Amino acid sequence: MDIKRNILLNPGPATTTDTVKRAQLVPDICPREREFGALMRELGTDLLKVVHANEAEWTTVLFCGSGTICMDACVSSLIPADGKLLIVNNGAYSARAAEMARAYSVPHIDLSFPVDGLPDLAVVERVLDETPDISAVYTTHQETGTGILNPVREIGALAHAHGAVMIADTISTYAMLPFSVDEMNIDVCMSSAQKGIQGMTGLSFVLAKKAVLAAAKAYPVRSYYTNLVMQHTGFEQTGEMRFTPPVQTVYAAKRALAEYFAEGAAKKWARHTRTIDAIHAGLAKLGLKEAIPRAIQSGLVVAVEYPQDFDFTRVHDYCYERGYTIYPGKMQSAATFRLCALGAIDAPDIAGFFRVLEEALNAS
Ligand SMILES: *Cc1c(COP(=O)(O)O)cnc(C)c1O
Repeated sequence: MDIKRNILLNPGPATTTDTVKRAQLVPDICPREREFGALMRELGTDLLKVVHANEAEWTTVLFCGSGTICMDACVSSLIPADGKLLIVNNGAYSARAAEMARAYSVPHIDLSFPVDGLPDLAVVERVLDETPDISAVYTTHQETGTGILNPVREIGALAHAHGAVMIADTISTYAMLPFSVDEMNIDVCMSSAQKGIQGMTGLSFVLAKKAVLAAAKAYPVRSYYTNLVMQHTGFEQTGEMRFTPPVQTVYAAKRALAEYFAEGAAKKWARHTRTIDAIHAGLAKLGLKEAIPRAIQSGLVVAVEYPQDFDFTRVHDYCYERGYTIYPGKMQSAATFRLCALGAIDAPDIAGFFRVLEEALNAS
């Protein structure tokens, strides 16, 4: 079996190894078999290790769905009737969490900041001081739309100083940017198999402190399918996901994690760094301008300003036909496209990409 290798520079799903692709080819199995339950339990434990979460205090809740299902589960499940969610919002993904809070009538404050900079921590602190019923703070570790890396550790410290739970959308940093949940002052975080672990789409996971889930048993159930407590309790009681899991994706995720641990967190981060450095260098060589100052970038995503007369679709199609995928930007304020360093790719892939991009820009 020869599988064409595409270089995905979009923010997930990412380029995967052939061994991970092949791990999906397993005998048919009913996911209610104990064997499959054991696989999911092991996977949950492995996922905790990636962010150094202590197994005694933390647990993993698996969902069948894309990464957004984890945001939905957290926003709908972790706020008591008399509490309030503070969303520290400087980008499209935190804005999505605010939309969910509105959709579920979750009491919340959507604290918005400009999308091209960091949130102002003094403002966050003032709002926490003034609003004692804030029971949880939510932010996005990397705003993938811009590539801005947010100060989760500092926001988490403020949350904890005010007795609030810290929820971080770490979907686009988990298993890439090495971090430990405790050092980051995180109580709940999340990711999806098609991002940092370089697995397939359709499996996502919330990592939560057991104490947070225990408290949430008393909170309103605002969503049936995505309720975090019900999903967790269901698995604990039966060893099965409440509803049909993405069976083959689970096998691929197990394989992807084995490859993650074999590569090692530090080496993997070094590879992503080589990749993004090659992206920075290639952009500079073509005179293309980055939309966000390097100092606040994550080191995983670069938002690139459109050059003059840039036709995204034409350039995209030219690159796509040659095995490279670029992605539209997500900044309302500026016309940008994005290049990302996720996935099983390395600096030589980026060199190949820039040869094609240069041709695309010249071929008009
Ligand atoms: C990818 C991503 C998500 C989830 O997107 P899906 O399309 O639902 O997988 C959520 N938050 C961030 C920061 C992301 O990068």
